[in-house]
Amino acid sequence: MIVKSILSVKGHDVLTTSPTTTLAEGAKTLAEKRIGALVITGADNRVVGIVTERDIVRAIAAHGASALTMAVSEFMTRKVVTCSEADTVASIMEQMTAGKFRHIPVVEGHRLVGIVSIGDVVKWRLHEMEQEHSALRDYIQTA
Ligand code: AMP
Repeated sequence: MIVKSILSVKGHDVLTTSPTTTLAEGAKTLAEKRIGALVITGADNRVVGIVTERDIVRAIAAHGASALTMAVSEFMTRKVVTCSEADTVASIMEQMTAGKFRHIPVVEGHRLVGIVSIGDVVKWRLHEMEQEHSALRDYIQTA
């Protein structure tokens, strides 16, 4: 199964913000939109970083409340692992497990076309297992 199948169900929307956004604004967006990561894009809309809930927790642990007025660029991860729509779901699961992160932006060329979280992957895998289970049950009943 490939990443494109997940995006065809969940959609292609990705919340992005600029590197100069403050951590407080970033945190507000995450809370309001009920998401765990913000992709940071540069002037040409290219991915230049990612900020997740964990980065915000670490920033506050390191700097206290003053972190909130600092720019997200101070805390974002710059070396972002991305995938393409043609990548398999199994391969991105492996990347997330090995890299200990839960979000992967989907990029085609330099265009951001979606984001997949570990929650999306688990949801997809459960759906796949239910289908396999029901196909096997039907097979047994008709055999
Ligand atoms: P997460 O588990 O997604 O909250 O992220 C844990 C840490 O990994 C944070 O420091 C994130 O900035 C970083 N991170 C999240 N997603 C990615 C990614 N796709 N590539 C590189 N680092 C990431």
